Amino acid sequence: MKLIFLGPPGAGKGTIATRLAEDEGIPHISTGDIFRENIRNETELGKKVKAILDSGDLVPDELTVELVKDRVSQPDAAAGFVLDGFPRTVPQADALAEFAPVDKVLNFVLDEDEIIRRLSGRRVHKPSGRTYHVLFSPPNEEGKDDVTGEELIIRDDDKPEAIKNRLAVYEKQTAPLIEYYRSRGLLVDIDSAPKPEEVYASVRKELGLA
Ligand code: AMP
Repeated sequence: MKLIFLGPPGAGKGTIATRLAEDEGIPHISTGDIFRENIRNETELGKKVKAILDSGDLVPDELTVELVKDRVSQPDAAAGFVLDGFPRTVPQADALAEFAPVDKVLNFVLDEDEIIRRLSGRRVHKPSGRTYHVLFSPPNEEGKDDVTGEELIIRDDDKPEAIKNRLAVYEKQTAPLIEYYRSRGLLVDIDSAPKPEEVYASVRKELGLA
């Protein structure tokens, strides 16, 4: 089962992808998570992409494609994978079709007001990457990590200016992939407005796993 999860930032793709990957025993490959982990660990790659992520712009295609090509060629991805946040441009999609054609593309649909509500409530424990949401999954104590009690922060790319930029980048560079995959008969729309539990159930149904 080789899948792409497509959709605007904040549509909840990551939550659903994590769960599906766990239940099906396939890797969840999130380019955003890979970049953030490299930034946390201050690797060469991390240093190169930090300012780009903070602004909400996209990392250059060539770099991103190489990263994913390498990741999907690992043995654990042979039987399948969930790609989350990749591809984000037509050149990335063209490259992927060459090295790892997918079976299906799930397009998570959510209106802009709800996207902004979800993104602006996100809080992160920086050292571990644990995430919370002030409305949907608040920490036990406001502003504090449940495990360590340390301060939670707002990711730079979840600040209002960056959110606006990420949505504009999505519309311009990523939304064209909806037609790209629809015209190839691979796309299925998933309504992302309900609770994660319900969204997950519709995903399983679409994949014939229910
Ligand atoms: P995400 O967690 O998927 O929202 O990704 C966070 C950030 O990582 C994005 O705003 C981009 O700066 C970068 N990024 C993630 N995936 C890609 C991609 N496929 N192509 C280019 N940049 C990406």
